[in-house]
Amino acid sequence: MNYTVSLVGAGPGDPELLTVRALKRIEGADVVLADDLIDPRVLALVKGRLLRVGKRGGCISTDQHFIHALMIKEARAGHRVVRLKGGDPFVFGRGGEEVDALREAGLEVEVVSGLTSGIAGPAAVGIPVTDRRASPGVILVTGHPGEGRAEPDWAALARTGLTLVIYMGVARAPDITAKLLAAGLKPDLPAAIVSAAHTAQQRHAVTTLAGLPDCIAREGLKSPALLVIGEVAAHAAAADIERLVSSA
Ligand code: SAH
Repeated sequence: MNYTVSLVGAGPGDPELLTVRALKRIEGADVVLADDLIDPRVLALVKGRLLRVGKRGGCISTDQHFIHALMIKEARAGHRVVRLKGGDPFVFGRGGEEVDALREAGLEVEVVSGLTSGIAGPAAVGIPVTDRRASPGVILVTGHPGEGRAEPDWAALARTGLTLVIYMGVARAPDITAKLLAAGLKPDLPAAIVSAAHTAQQRHAVTTLAGLPDCIAREGLKSPALLVIGEVAAHAAAADIERLVSSA
């Protein structure tokens, strides 16, 4: 099938983490509408017109409807349109809303999955998000549900005992930490922050749940970042030790 619009996951940063299909779509596009968090090395692969439609830096508009209208206009003009989104297009990327809008406009839409930062980011610093010795599962959750939308039930999430990977959680870390502690999670439960994973700015820190807000402030760790809460977070330190040993 010849799709008019492809929603393409750009992965967390490093272009080597693009899927083969993502690379083909990016290179073959007449026009690429790119979000903020796309690594400059991935943007450099664009051969057609590049339109930055993110909320930060060089934005044309923050309005989601504007983005929908632009995609529809370009597709109807007969252009091969790629909507390039960080990580995976269907994980906190409004991909679902965009697919609905495009289908309502009668367009064929393809979704090209990407590596989501919530899994590839922790992995970049040696954290497996599941590990049968410590956590039989993982919850991917947003720390910032958006204006007027329901907050996740942090107490219920805490009770699952599963690894929590929190996207968009840096600014709200003190509040989230307090809620998880109040729900009974141990203050010394391992926690990690992974910032700008798989980019040139990658940084991380390992701490405890109780120490998380201070650690973020002290280390100056900034968005985009993932918070990883659970026993598996302790593996990050082990990864560092391994690197030290191997470079010694
Ligand atoms: N669709 C994206 C998520 C978009 S929401 C995905 O699947 O990864 C944006 C949030 O994703 C950021 O606030 C941050 O929490 C996370 N994020 C995206 N890229 C990241 C990266 N390279 N390193 C760390 N966190 C990242």
